[in-house]
Amino acid sequence: MTIRKPSADRTDRNGGRRQALLFATLALPFLIGVYALVLGYWARPQTSGRQLRLDEFLSVVAKNRVGSATILAGDDRVIGSYDGGNRYWVDISGGHETLFARVTGALEQAGVPTAVRSQPLKALVQPVSMLLPMLILADVMVVLALVAKGGGQLGGFGRAGARQVGEGEPTLTFADLAGADEAVEELAEIRDYLADPTRFAAMGAAVPKGVLLSGPPGCGKTRLARAVAGESAVPFFSISGSDFVEMYVGVGAARIRDLFATAKAAAPAIVFIDEIDAVGRSRSTSAAGGNDEREATLNQLLVEMDGFGAESGVVVMAATNRPDILDAALLRPGRFDRRITLDPPDLRGREAILAIHVGHKPLAADVDLAAIARQTAGFTGADLANVVNEAALLATRRQAAVIATADLGEAVERVVAGPQRRSRILSPADKRRVAVHEAGHAVVAASQPGAGRVAKISVVARGHGQGSTMSMPEGDRILATRDELHDRIAVLLGGRAAEELVLGQPSTGSNDDLARATGLARRIVTECGMSERLGPLAFVSNGEETAHRWSDATAAKIDDETHRIVRDAFERATSVLLANRAVLAALTDELIRTETLEGEALASLLGNIVPPADARLWEELAAQAQLAAAAS
Ligand code: ADP
Repeated sequence: MTIRKPSADRTDRNGGRRQALLFATLALPFLIGVYALVLGYWARPQTSGRQLRLDEFLSVVAKNRVGSATILAGDDRVIGSYDGGNRYWVDISGGHETLFARVTGALEQAGVPTAVRSQPLKALVQPVSMLLPMLILADVMVVLALVAKGGGQLGGFGRAGARQVGEGEPTLTFADLAGADEAVEELAEIRDYLADPTRFAAMGAAVPKGVLLSGPPGCGKTRLARAVAGESAVPFFSISGSDFVEMYVGVGAARIRDLFATAKAAAPAIVFIDEIDAVGRSRSTSAAGGNDEREATLNQLLVEMDGFGAESGVVVMAATNRPDILDAALLRPGRFDRRITLDPPDLRGREAILAIHVGHKPLAADVDLAAIARQTAGFTGADLANVVNEAALLATRRQAAVIATADLGEAVERVVAGPQRRSRILSPADKRRVAVHEAGHAVVAASQPGAGRVAKISVVARGHGQGSTMSMPEGDRILATRDELHDRIAVLLGGRAAEELVLGQPSTGSNDDLARATGLARRIVTECGMSERLGPLAFVSNGEETAHRWSDATAAKIDDETHRIVRDAFERATSVLLANRAVLAALTDELIRTETLEGEALASLLGNIVPPADARLWEELAAQAQLAAAAS
């Protein structure tokens, strides 16, 4: 394994490129000069004086007027002096043996001293004058390529430029990663496979070839991939998607080919492609008719991924923070069919990450990592690593022996003040609002039979939203009844209802929920034919209008019905929350404290939900109970 420190390696390579560029540029005038010399001087016959036609020459020879003669073998000319010192030359090129024999015969007969100059270098004129233009052209291309790439790679167009992380960098294991337990669990299988690919192949087990890690920057995607390599002790080849976006068509594809060839030769191995969205962006959505180079690279990647089987021992891991824009072809079975999401860590995760990064650094006895974790809601793993590092720097500057709580506190402030971080950190007020909002979803969901079981709620940002509430449907469901659809809308509106109820006014935090609730309500009316006023008619099917043309009056009714469904659901959500204020408050407090709630803790809090205090619903429920009793 080669040991390559990225920074040193890069400067090395840049220095090499600069030298190559300098050399190639200086070579250019030199080559052109040589070419001019060859054409202008070397190739031209070395003759002077008057040209004599052959017959003139033979006649002056016969008249003994020629003083000397030299035959230039390379130039095919005869030169010399005649009439007492005048220079002459005769062209005998294209001549046959007989012509030559005649000339030498005549000279001999006249007793003219004759010499032959063999001119061996002249034989080289032709090949050299053909070779030089090619050399010049090649040099020009090299210079252009180097300039275009900012000192790109000389003679390394097809080279992958992949970094193999080796013994020089510490081997990471899953223990070096905290707050990502689910992801680690999912990757355990990959680790086992890489540790012994033949065993899996013998079993005929299909192992995922590609794992897509998605999540915001700094959440540990690279670290996780490296940990898998470390755990299974296989080489790790990493490259960034943006490296592939070169200006020359074919370069990216060649790099991919090279990368996979290297990885296969070193198998079992991990190929890690960072920022895969740079090459894997959906082909249809790319702007301005697409980028041929990127497409060629993407196609090559797909070809490579299809081209190796379970026995090859190569696993491709890719990271992106924009999984939504990836080309669907990448996500097909046999490619990146396993997807793992890494989110910013919750309270427990943050504490564990801090503990990892504190590692062997000397800490003051009173430092409470849990307290620091509480202050850093919204921080990613990279932010936390940064906090520890800053704190160590501050302690060093103070010339203290240990890192004190104050150092960590100040480090947090510094990291928060960093430009990109500000949007990520959750202020206490926002955190409370997100907690109320998510608790609202959860309480409404728990009270609605059709909403499924609430599995996990969290105030940690995920994707676009601020928090999240995850419900699990009971068993596999394909169909949804009308009541279940209404329940879902109520759950979607539970967050906003809670904000209004507890905090007095709504916020932009529910924009997404509103859009989804409205969309669902409209589909209930127009697509599912489930509104009483508009009967079982479908106005829309699969997103397209059906053949049925509707009048303006009907359009107004559609609007009314959509509005009514959403409003009813909102009222229902509000009444559920009113009836369960205590649970809502308890859930909110617990969420603020722990940030994530799931399993037993969540179930016991939600176990106290009472039915909604809505008179109409009570009546309905009672009527249903009577009907059921009568039927049995
Ligand atoms: P990404 O690839 O998602 O942008 P990285 O893997 O490069 O993030 O993480 C950057 C740094 O942040 C890591 O080197 C590590 O120090 C720290 N880090 C991120 N997530 C974690 C985690 N879950 N546990 C420990 N450290 C982490």
